[in-house]
Amino acid sequence: MKDAATSTSQVNMLQQKLYSARQAIDEMNEAQNEKLQLLMQFIGQLSLACKGQNLELDNKLAKLRHKLANFSQVEDSLADLNEADTILKQQYGRIMLQLEDSRQALNNMVGQIQRIQSLPSKLKLEINYFKKELSKPLHTYWDYIPKVERVVNFYDEILKEQFNLGEQFEILPRHRQSAHELAQLLSEIEFRKEQREQIAEIKKSLTEEFELNTLLDAYQVVLGLLLDNIAREKTASQEFLYVLNNALSNVQEVVTESYSHSIKSFQVAKQLNRDINGQVDNVGEAVIEVDNIDELKSQITTHLASLRKALGRKELLENREQAQLKQSVEALRQELKELGKETESYKERLFEQQKLNLLDSLTQLPNRSALEERMDIEYRNFQRTNQPLWVAVADIDHFKTINDNFGHSTGDKTLQVIAMALKNSLRESEFVARYGGEEFVLLLPNIAESDILPLLNRVREKVKSIPFKFKNQRITVTVSIGAAQIIENELINETFDRADAALYKAKNESRDRVIVDF
Ligand code: GH3
Ligand code: MG
Ligand code: MG
Repeated sequence: MKDAATSTSQVNMLQQKLYSARQAIDEMNEAQNEKLQLLMQFIGQLSLACKGQNLELDNKLAKLRHKLANFSQVEDSLADLNEADTILKQQYGRIMLQLEDSRQALNNMVGQIQRIQSLPSKLKLEINYFKKELSKPLHTYWDYIPKVERVVNFYDEILKEQFNLGEQFEILPRHRQSAHELAQLLSEIEFRKEQREQIAEIKKSLTEEFELNTLLDAYQVVLGLLLDNIAREKTASQEFLYVLNNALSNVQEVVTESYSHSIKSFQVAKQLNRDINGQVDNVGEAVIEVDNIDELKSQITTHLASLRKALGRKELLENREQAQLKQSVEALRQELKELGKETESYKERLFEQQKLNLLDSLTQLPNRSALEERMDIEYRNFQRTNQPLWVAVADIDHFKTINDNFGHSTGDKTLQVIAMALKNSLRESEFVARYGGEEFVLLLPNIAESDILPLLNRVREKVKSIPFKFKNQRITVTVSIGAAQIIENELINETFDRADAALYKAKNESRDRVIVDF
């Protein structure tokens, strides 16, 4: 009995233990499940972070996330987990290759940057360091992004540097001066008709706000046009020389032909003369040797017949020769006439060209070259006759303000009108040229000392009285004039310098006035 009771209490105790053990296992399972669920949630979140790299991987992970969210399907998701694991490994390999490619590309870009010559030395040093850094492999995109940022920064700095360099191409006063001088030069050179429109455009572009490139282009185009003109002129001269050469060789041919012909004729004539002389000798001998008068008669008749024949031949020859000579002379005359015509037309062309080269294209007044020629002539006249000769320099007052206020083309028109007024205020024997810009030079021979001031004041008043109207504004334009008379033992250029100095005084005193250096 006692044994049975002991056994029962033992069983109870074991049951108790079993119960406790079960409870402990349940508790452990629950804790385990909780951890597993947390792990699965984590995997789900982690898989979201991979999203967007690879479509296959994205799909696989989405499916996995779905299964993992449902705890009861955990067992089913093991296969998916395995597959996702394989794709992930492949993706990692791909990323590593991509990173290596990207590193190479960055390396190349930096190489390009290093080739820029104008890099500041500090930047150069930084780039060299960076290149060394780039030689190590990249492990993640997070390594890569800052490197890209560095390269972008380098480019940024270089661009800034370039912009600063760009400021050096700013239009400087000397560029404006060159543009102005080129425009002025273009007014003084005579271009062909078909070139004029282009030249006008270039001149316009130089007077407006322009960029340095415009100026350089202008120089290039103008040089091209000038070279073209020179080449043409050269061709025209060559053509003339060619014609001349042809004509001369024709003349030479005619002369050689007549020469050889005359040599031949000379030989034939000589033979004939010999024949005739022979006949005459024969007659003489017959007269001496023959006693019988009848025989003599018959012999003389024979000789005379031969003589007549020879003389006839001689006349024929002479006539033919005459005709040929006439023909040769005629041919020569014709050749010379042609040549004369050719020379005349060439001379005309040259004269036209010379005339054009001596005229200022804007005002149609003689230009500076023409002035120099005329100064020479007047100077020689003065040396020969000792008649008074005056040189006057006229300069428009405040002309720049006309350009500034009303534009360059109004300035141009003003110059044309004033040039015309100056020309019309002078006599035939007097001379005015556009010296340059808004300056004119007058050469006035045979004017008495007492007449020069009134004369130049009349010229000055004439300009002042021109009724200019710009933008509906009545404008008075004036000129200042300086003049000097050539004195003995002075060169005309020295007279010019004195006139110029007098003009300078007129400008300084009040403008709109004449000062003569007496
Ligand atoms: P001043 O009374 O001291 O002579 O003053 P100014 O303004 O007349 O003289 P300055 O020498 O300072 O300026 C001359 C101006 O003439 C500057 C230039 O732009 C202008 N000019 C020169 N040639 C031409 C041209 O062919 N056409 C135009 N429109 N202007 C010209
Ligand atoms: Mg001036
Ligand atoms: Mg002036």
